[in-house]
Amino acid sequence: MKSYDVAVIGSGPGGYVAAIRCAQLGMTTAIIEKYSTLGGTCLNVGCIPSKALLSSSHHYEEATKHFEDHGIEIPGEIKVNLEKMIARKQAVVDQTTGGIDFLMKKNKIDVYEGLGSFKDATHIKIDGKDAGEIEAKNIIIATGSKPSNLPFIELDKERIITSTEALKLKEVPKHLMIIGGGVIGLELGQVYRRLGAEVTVIEYMDRILPTMDAGLSKELNKVFKKAKCKMMMSHKVQSVKRKGDEVIVKAENKKGEVVEFKGDYCLVSVGRRPYTDGLNAEAAGVKINDRGQVEVNEHLQTSASNIYAIGDVIRGAMLAHKAEEEGVFVAETLAGQKPHIDYNLIPGVVYTWPEVAAVGKTEEELKADNIEYKVGQFPFRALGRARASGDIDGFVKILADKTTDEVLGVHMIGARCADLIAEAVTAMEFRASAEDISRYSHAHPTFAEAVKEAALAATDNRPLHV
Ligand code: FAD
Ligand code: NAD
Repeated sequence: MKSYDVAVIGSGPGGYVAAIRCAQLGMTTAIIEKYSTLGGTCLNVGCIPSKALLSSSHHYEEATKHFEDHGIEIPGEIKVNLEKMIARKQAVVDQTTGGIDFLMKKNKIDVYEGLGSFKDATHIKIDGKDAGEIEAKNIIIATGSKPSNLPFIELDKERIITSTEALKLKEVPKHLMIIGGGVIGLELGQVYRRLGAEVTVIEYMDRILPTMDAGLSKELNKVFKKAKCKMMMSHKVQSVKRKGDEVIVKAENKKGEVVEFKGDYCLVSVGRRPYTDGLNAEAAGVKINDRGQVEVNEHLQTSASNIYAIGDVIRGAMLAHKAEEEGVFVAETLAGQKPHIDYNLIPGVVYTWPEVAAVGKTEEELKADNIEYKVGQFPFRALGRARASGDIDGFVKILADKTTDEVLGVHMIGARCADLIAEAVTAMEFRASAEDISRYSHAHPTFAEAVKEAALAATDNRPLHV
């Protein structure tokens, strides 16, 4: 039986990054993955394929709706070839997962294909292509998550679907009904709206993206409404039934009335659940809490002292970059280092257009904590760069401590915000004040100037361009 310093179960962004960092630090490392491709949810059916379809559908929308404004005329009809678009997405996925194979080889990490389950705290049984057993001094659980469902919905995966199926549809829906106005619902809703589907978003809470700053929800809601999506807030879904090619959703509105929606596809995007099926965690003495998460302490150590857990399978935001940070954290802990993660500074991004991005505290959280703060907000429409490209929707909002001026939260919606948020994270990691940001140079003309202007507005209300 082969023996390792570390074995990682699951090859998503948490698991494969943990494995690379362990190998870099000189540990003999194995990774076990039940599917034939590495990369987990993120690379196979999450971040990467969804961004490929967002990009393709964005190009289509530009060509059909905005090229003309730029003086570009395309003779004849512009058409979507969905089969080709999905094939391109798959090619991007294949190339990216292939890159992980290369990284495993480069770092001399042994890859086992098969379902890993604990025999005890140092032995893992592998069922599948590379069936057998391995031994490891330390083990990292990185088994990720799967889509959640509502108890009364039967997912047939043809017309009543999760994000996994929505990434490989064979036709553009006529009417896509989406249960859940969170990240997945909005990103994939925008893809199919751009491609011509009628889209209805049915959300239980009174706003989309309920955990983000309310200002962002309001602005993105306007964008979806402008695109003629039906945004049904405060609707509690009661039933979802399929009749032939039709799907019928019934939901109760705020007044207690039952409203019926009919469409040809229904995407259920009400969150994801931690995945530990088949892991046999009990055999190793690893506790699973009542939310289905692997229970960990501040060192990401489970109830078995040589076993750690990271990513979607533990508490916290279900984000690829959070999983990656935790992978590095555990590897460095095992090497005797003292790593640190500031969870408050893990950014959240929604890759719609305009993009939505945030880091730190929201206004709602600061109010709840009785922290006095100042707000500096700057609209993209006042920027030369935004007008030049025609991307004028959105704003940057900086929240700073009323007394010290320290930046406490940055919330933005607009072109390229997914990248702009990195500046806010850097500033906050160095505990910058709003004035600090306002005093360093931002290239002109860029979208990043909105960050500087919002900082000027937060410092002493003196933006230069509004
Ligand atoms: P996962 O990526 O879920 O990987 C876990 C792996 O473990 C899987 O490959 C699984 O097969 C394997 N596994 C499970 N059990 C076993 C076992 N017993 N034996 C062997 N292998 C096992 N996050 C972002 O930050 N940005 C985005 O843009 C983004 N977009 C997303 C879009 C969609 C449609 C979805 C669904 C998710 C998206 N996410 C995004 C979330 C992101 O994918 C997850 O947060 C991330 O993949 C979590 O990483 P992980 O390593 O914890 O787990
Ligand atoms: P989510 O938690 O983002 O959104 C789920 C939404 O469904 C919420 O708004 C919630 O209020 C609503 N909801 C819950 N129950 C409902 C009900 N019965 N009826 C109507 N609405 C209901 O979850 P998601 O969109 O499924 O995404 C899952 C995870 O994947 C998220 O945690 C997210 O972090 C991750 N993800 C991230 C990205 C990104 O970073 N860009 C993209 C996709 C997914």
